Amino acid sequence: MHEYGLVQALLERVTHEVAAHDAAAVHRLTVRIGPLAGVDRELFAEAYRLCRPGTRCEHAELVLTTEETDWRCGACGAAIAEGAALVCPTCGWPARLAGGDAIVLERIELEVIPHV
Ligand SMILES: [Zn+2]
Repeated sequence: MHEYGLVQALLERVTHEVAAHDAAAVHRLTVRIGPLAGVDRELFAEAYRLCRPGTRCEHAELVLTTEETDWRCGACGAAIAEGAALVCPTCGWPARLAGGDAIVLERIELEVIPHV
């Protein structure tokens, strides 16, 4: 259940951002999760629901987006088609993962009250 640890790290990060921007509230968080990140999206969303009471994210909506899996040739950088062998069709070099294994806090929407 490492999703809880990820959510806690996320909430800490957001708390830091809220303090840094002197924000009044957090409206929405957008988190991008790659299919190879090893994160269960359902568990992540559930962990968020359980962890947010009492934090600055108590009323913030969580939006999860997906990162496309992206395999590329380690030599020439050619894209390897989804479902194809993980070897470059041109140079025979093994493919490397260039995307799809990340979990990224993409956006935080804060409400900032201007100081007069
Ligand atoms: Zn190649």
